[in-house]
Amino acid sequence: MALRIIFLFLLTVHNGICFENFKPNIAIIGGGIGGASCSHFLTELFNNNLNIDLYEAKTIGGRLATVEVDNNEFEAGGSIIHPQNKYMQEFVKLLGLEHRPSTDQIASIWNGDEIVFEESRWELLSLSKLIYRYGIQPFSLNRHVASIVSSFENIYHLQDTGNAYTNISSLLSAMNIKFPQLLETSIKTELLNLGYSEKVIDEIVKTSLVVNYGQDTNVHSFVGFVSLAGVGSHLWSVKGGNKKVPEHLIYRNKYVNVVPSRVIKIVNIPTNSSRSLYEVHYHNEDSKIIMKAMYDVVILATPLTHDQPYPITFEGFPKNDFYNLEKYHETIATFVEGDLKPHYFGLQEELDVILSCDPNKTIISSLGRLNSVEGTMKNSKVWKVFSNEPLNSATVNDMFTNVQKMKQVAWKAYPEYSTRADEAQFKLHNALYHVNAIEWTASAMEMSAIGGRNVALLVHKDFSKKFCCTEDVQKVTPSSEL
Ligand SMILES: Cc1cc2nc3c(=O)[nH]c(=O)nc-3n(C[C@H](O)[C@H](O)[C@H](O)COP(=O)(O)OP(=O)(O)OC[C@H]3O[C@@H](n4cnc5c(N)ncnc54)[C@H](O)[C@@H]3O)c2cc1C
Repeated sequence: MALRIIFLFLLTVHNGICFENFKPNIAIIGGGIGGASCSHFLTELFNNNLNIDLYEAKTIGGRLATVEVDNNEFEAGGSIIHPQNKYMQEFVKLLGLEHRPSTDQIASIWNGDEIVFEESRWELLSLSKLIYRYGIQPFSLNRHVASIVSSFENIYHLQDTGNAYTNISSLLSAMNIKFPQLLETSIKTELLNLGYSEKVIDEIVKTSLVVNYGQDTNVHSFVGFVSLAGVGSHLWSVKGGNKKVPEHLIYRNKYVNVVPSRVIKIVNIPTNSSRSLYEVHYHNEDSKIIMKAMYDVVILATPLTHDQPYPITFEGFPKNDFYNLEKYHETIATFVEGDLKPHYFGLQEELDVILSCDPNKTIISSLGRLNSVEGTMKNSKVWKVFSNEPLNSATVNDMFTNVQKMKQVAWKAYPEYSTRADEAQFKLHNALYHVNAIEWTASAMEMSAIGGRNVALLVHKDFSKKFCCTEDVQKVTPSSEL
């Protein structure tokens, strides 16, 4: 143990001296949880010897945002955090934020014609209903998902010991050698091969995918299992709003300078040394005057698909196209203040949560009674409805009476998943990196935090190799060997 501490101390001092002589100038594009996590881990790895400019075109937090209805704030984007999401837990602790546990709510599954499964307030009754409809398969599925979560958690030790990956297959395979195969098989095929019934797949598994990703069981199995893991208990959010995590990580870090601007172009500037140089072109929304700044390292912490609102062009690279040809799935969040009409859903009385297992028939993907981000409301009359298309007021009036308010937020929410995804790369060029490559495995706050740390580790490794007395740094980085 003593040897380990001395070694880590020497490593810190050594790194400190190395980077004091040459502080990297880093641009991060995107102030969501991915960019925030990356800036946090970079500052730690470079021992404060760095400069970061973080560009944000719209609002820090990105897809973590709140919406106001009747003087209360509600989660509009990413809302639920799994209890085993280590980085989100650690960030909340580090920043002195508080948990807001999810309240017990009665959920049901709706197929458009009828409610096929309805929970009860009594746990034993819910269990009997579950066994009556699906047999014991939900329990074995639960165990299977738990074993996948357990392999997934290997990433934390791997990252603690300095391991970094240039693409998603190598990252997944480090967690479990069999994980990359999950990207090539649909969750439906995978579960049918494991002996699960069509009923369990078409109702339980499909419902989780419709609710979490607005998609069907043709998505790849890895995201299918992540989605199922999100159905568990003890889920939580951050009191005051999940966006507080990226906000605090970014604004409290004195080595991060926030540039409230939109990046439009990145130019690779040729150099006659091993040093990379990139010119970032940007402007803010008010003035369209284009400004330029030079960086040693550029990190993209935003999706790279052609359907994003703030596209970036690339110039001077061997291949100037880093875009993924797939799309992001559009999800509409509609906030309604009113009373639910139970009869519309084939119910006798109001329920807290209605989940669809067939959005083509139900129009909506899910509907749930909301608690404010402060967690203080009782019998709230505010509901969040997710759908793949915008809802018109006629549809809203079919589902609710006494509608007082209605607000809609349209999200390019998460990748449109399939089994044909190209290999997504974290490293796009010598010192150009992409955090959101990770979203092609599964999109979630924790995934972006992991992607952010992976890129921070890659940057640190690459930079040390180029500019420090490399061998020492390379040799001692994996502290697992100590
Ligand atoms: C409706 C919805 C529900 C969800 N539910 C959950 C959930 O319950 N649990 C969960 O864990 N996850 C959930 N997610 C997913 C989760 O919110 C995302 O995976 C995560 O927030 C992505 O963070 P990010 O930092 O990678 O990307 P983003 O949050 O998208 O951040 C990218 C940022 O980059 C900025 N940007 C883009 N282009 C430029 C440019 N050219 N110049 C400057 N800035 C730029 C954008 O404005 C944005 O702020 C949900 C997402 C949505 C939309």
